[in-house]
Amino acid sequence: MVSARKGELVVQRLESLFGNVTFDDDYWREQNEPFWLIAETILSQNTTSANSRAAFRSLFLSYQTVEAVSLAGVQDVERAIKQAGLYEAKARSISAVAREVMETYNGDTWSFIGGSYQSARERLQNVTGIGPKTADVVLVFARDFDIIPVDTHVFRVSRRIGLAPLKGGYDAVKMALEDEIPPGKRKFAHIALIRLGREICVARGPRHWKCPLTDLCDYYQATSCDASHTC
Ligand code: SF4
Repeated sequence: MVSARKGELVVQRLESLFGNVTFDDDYWREQNEPFWLIAETILSQNTTSANSRAAFRSLFLSYQTVEAVSLAGVQDVERAIKQAGLYEAKARSISAVAREVMETYNGDTWSFIGGSYQSARERLQNVTGIGPKTADVVLVFARDFDIIPVDTHVFRVSRRIGLAPLKGGYDAVKMALEDEIPPGKRKFAHIALIRLGREICVARGPRHWKCPLTDLCDYYQATSCDASHTC
């Protein structure tokens, strides 16, 4: 059992390390159109940032409005996003969201993702290809719900530190993290843990010597073999 203090300390250390972290998500905000956030999040599944960004640019330049995406054939959307990988499944999801927004919500994506966290999450997850992580990423950024979406980096890093159980799936890890991380700090924790996972606590050969969490980290405490931090 991890003490509540650990989550707070992790947040404080990551704030000192990274300062004010942000995601490059301003584009959809400029448009005030969360459809593009949903599309961007779908495109980011299981691929590199460079590929998903390129696919997103191509999608937006090809269509520019939700209505245009909804009227396009799925194969045309596939061609636009080919660089994203898994483009056939992603095109089906993006087209399905656009059609749902146009046909059921009269073109208003804010209504599609409106209401309580649970109802909005279920609505998003009713679209094939949108799972809990994609839904939560959309909802933390578009709706500012105080939640921690769990991507592959957050899974690995939070388990290594000992903020989340080693067993259990997405919701078990998310709930454990939300127990540990103080309210108001969860979006920051989501972004900072991803950055920690990309830059320092990488999957193979975590760079403990660069990490400010060694004294808090279960994995480090269990595996470190000398004071030089080279294990
Ligand atoms: S101490 Fe090492 S294993 Fe623990 S979070 Fe930092 S880099 Fe990862």
